[in-house]
Parts: sequence; C-alpha cells; structure tokens
Amino acid sequence: MPVTNGQNGTRGRGRRALMDVIRRRGPLPRIELAELTSLSRATVTTITAELIEAGLIEEIAQAEPGNGARRGRPRVDLRIRGAAHLVAGVKIAHRTLSLVLMDFNFSRLAELEVPLPAPCLSADAMTDAIVGAVDTLMEKADHCRSELSGIGLGIAGVVKAARGLVLWSPSLDARNVALGDQVSAALDLPVFVDNDANLVTMAELGFGLGRAHSDFIVVTVESGVGMGLVIDGQLYRGAGGCGAEFGHVKMHPDGPPCRCGQHGCLEAYVADFALLREATNLPDFDTSLPEDVQLSRLLARAGAGGAARAILDQARDIFALGLANLVNIFDPRLIILAGGQVKSNPLLSAQVVEKMKEAIVQVDRPTPEVAVHQWGDRMWALGGAAYALDGVLDLALSEMRDD
Ligand SMILES: [Zn+2]
Repeated sequence: MPVTNGQNGTRGRGRRALMDVIRRRGPLPRIELAELTSLSRATVTTITAELIEAGLIEEIAQAEPGNGARRGRPRVDLRIRGAAHLVAGVKIAHRTLSLVLMDFNFSRLAELEVPLPAPCLSADAMTDAIVGAVDTLMEKADHCRSELSGIGLGIAGVVKAARGLVLWSPSLDARNVALGDQVSAALDLPVFVDNDANLVTMAELGFGLGRAHSDFIVVTVESGVGMGLVIDGQLYRGAGGCGAEFGHVKMHPDGPPCRCGQHGCLEAYVADFALLREATNLPDFDTSLPEDVQLSRLLARAGAGGAARAILDQARDIFALGLANLVNIFDPRLIILAGGQVKSNPLLSAQVVEKMKEAIVQVDRPTPEVAVHQWGDRMWALGGAAYALDGVLDLALSEMRDD
C-alpha cells in the first residue's frame, strides 16, 4: 500500500489543527486540545505522540492550581518546542533591511537593522544585502546560518507569494524577479516571500488588533501605501495572488505619474515621493537635501499653514476618499491603519476618519471602527518571521508519514 505523506489526509489536517491551536492558545492539556479541535481524545493522544516524537511540541508539567492538599498526577500541558526550528523575518524597507530571529515558539532571539546601499536595487545586489544581513543577525545571536530552517521576506509591491515571484516592487530595478528562488539558492534555505502589507496583516490576524475579527482590512502607511484584506478569517490574495493593491487604485485618469508606471494612482498623491514632488513648487524648498530631511521640513512648514499645509491636506483628503471606497466595497467591521510615524503622519490623523465618513454611502448603521496601530520596521520583520514559521511548519508536517 502506498504510504500517504503530507498534510492533506485526515491525519495531516488533524496535525495541522493541533499545531495551530497549541501555537495560538497553548500550553494546553490534551483534553482541552480535543475540545478546541473537535478531534477525539484518542486521535489527540495519537497525533500529539507523533508531534512529540518529531520534536515539534513538548510536555510541560503544571502545578495543579489551588488545593495544595490535593494528590494525584500534576497536569501535563503541551507547548511548542522553541528549539525545534529557528527562523528569520526580513523586511525590505525603503532605505533599510530590518531583521528578527525567532525560535519556533515565537520568542525573539535577536534583531538587526542595516542600511541598504540604495532604495532601489538589482536582484543580485538585494540578494547580497539580505545574505550579509542574515549572517550578521545569526552572528549577533551566537548562532550560524546552518541552524536556520527558513526565512520570511516582506517586500513592497506586487508579489506572487506561492512562487516567491516579485512581479513589481519599488525596491527592485527589474520586473518579474524570482527573489524567493534567488535568495533561497544563495542561503541554501527555504525562503517565503510575500507583499509586506500581507505580512503585517497576518501578524494582526495572529496576534494583533485583528485577533478577534474575521473580516477586516489593514492599510499600511509608510513611504507608500499597502493593504491586506481578511475575509472570513483568511488573507485574501485574489485569483492570481496579486490582489489588494490599494496604493494603485486610480483616483484620476489624468493624475500624476506613479512609481508603477501608470498615472493617477492613490500613491501618486499620498506617498512620500508624491509629497516631495509637490514640495518642489514651494518657495525656498531645498530639494538637494536627503529625502527624509526634505519630508520633515515639509511637515514642519505645514504646521504654519499656507501652501505646505495644502499639500498635506490634499494627500489626506485623497487618502480618505480611497478608504471610503474600501468601505463602500467591502463593508469591513474594522480598518487598521498601520504605520511607523503615527504622530507626524497626516494620513493617520483624526481628520482622515472624518473625511472618510463623509464619502461612505450613508446607511442606517455605524461606520466601521478605524484603529491606528503603530508598527516599527521590526514589527514588519516579525510578520515575516510569523510567515516563515508557518512555512517551516508546513514543511515539517509534510515530512511526517501516515504509515
Ligand atoms: Zn501606481
């Protein structure tokens, strides 16, 4: 009889379900695992024995709470075995790489931030930068690269996650880059690539503000605008795996040029590059300074009103219109605006929500909750690590056999 392997049979699905519950809710005793997964106690006993043998989970004795006089066996919980695998999360940002090293139980072991030589690189130069940064990260944590089980990589742009293919990204100077394969070959490791906003969304779903919601939208605001869409508890990627490109919805047919090559995209009004393009028209605006200095000067001048204020107001109003379009299409309960510079970013201000409400089709029900969640670059890297943990778990489970 052929030996079925993998995770698609009943046994495989049971393993995955138990691992997911232990990761999210553990440590837990077997009896609660049976209740939470609707698997029989016998099945839970069999599968957890396999998972212990595979080194993915471990037993931990818990003292019985309360009654010290009570005798009997201590309660035994099951938890993820942290030492089972190490993964690294890597976020490719505009000017930096942010990395985090995590164990299988989601403990952070080390973090690192390194500058990129330029915001837009060739695939070879980006791969070299990632390989160098991963080695530095492992050195910092007193580990070596061979101890890693996988890497999760987040990049802005249009990504076919299942194939690790970057169709377009502002961080790469070419289209259709097989970045996953290239970095995987250079590091000799499994590499899981996804759009960075999707990674933030998965992190919000797993352990962030989206935990208690089955339908919500994450809009990321940094140098550009990204989006992740959760429908019925699942990240929605679109039929071709490239959906939810909120930054490139069209706001005007004759609008300004965008980095994607088209015109009138939302990003072409609200992203950093768009604000700086408008700022070149301000009197005495020094465009020879580094971009981040130009941006902070623009923000400072906007505080005094005038033309600088008008630039940010326009960006905010266009962004609010875009959000209202999302609400009109998807009717989410919750929109999470995720970004780093919450205090200084006009796109994360209270006026955005007011403007958005004005453009929502008025029906007799409350408008969605809008939450602002401050994410540093390291939190984006955590999303990458969460994605890598998921991929590494899939690989580990697919190696288990049903014989
Ligand atoms: Zn565009």
